[in-house]
Amino acid sequence: MKKLDALWKYQQTELSLERLDARVKTTPARLKLNKLHQYLTEQQNSIGSLQKNIETRKGSVDKLAAQVDELEHKYELEVSEFSVMKNDEEVTAEEMTESRRSVEALISRMDSARRELFDTLAWIEKATGDYKDTYARAAKAKKEYDEVRALCERELADAQPRIEEAKRALAAAAAKVDPALMERYKKIKNHHAVPVAKVENDQCGGCNMALSTTTVKRVAADEGVVECENCGRILYTE
Ligand SMILES: [Zn+2]
Repeated sequence: MKKLDALWKYQQTELSLERLDARVKTTPARLKLNKLHQYLTEQQNSIGSLQKNIETRKGSVDKLAAQVDELEHKYELEVSEFSVMKNDEEVTAEEMTESRRSVEALISRMDSARRELFDTLAWIEKATGDYKDTYARAAKAKKEYDEVRALCERELADAQPRIEEAKRALAAAAAKVDPALMERYKKIKNHHAVPVAKVENDQCGGCNMALSTTTVKRVAADEGVVECENCGRILYTE
């Protein structure tokens, strides 16, 4: 038995556990669950921002209404003042013109304040409708999400015995590997999903680079650990 046989066995066991895990994580139900989760998050975000904006606009309604009241009151005062002036013979034409201008300016301010109030109320009404629609969509999606999640949980429960078995096999395989070698393997695993590569046709099975004759001979002689000079994978031959 070669020194690396145990490590090779370990890698095979680890890869089959990874495949089992990947299969559970990529079932149609699981992919749908991920999509629904993303959709729900988006809907929740827009519900949150609609709510916040509606509150802000509602807060400005009272202020706008008070502004309209105040302008209307001023307008009434100025109009009655104007009619008094009309009957006053001492009032000059310039004074009359000035008073009329002042009333006109007030009317225009009153109009724009009313318009702003009206627009704000219309905006709130529309946003409240959007809020309700979004909420209904989110509630529907949440229901679907719960159903799909239950399905995913069943799938996971079904796969669990095989995963547990693969984990036990992995622990057993790990126990047979030299700890220093295992450490080296795990370091390489950070960069390469498959850290041990077979030598095939004098090439590294990981990166396909041609290996030097010396390297191939060293691997065949089983003289300690030999790494591929190109990719750093541990080279192995049966
Ligand atoms: Zn290589």
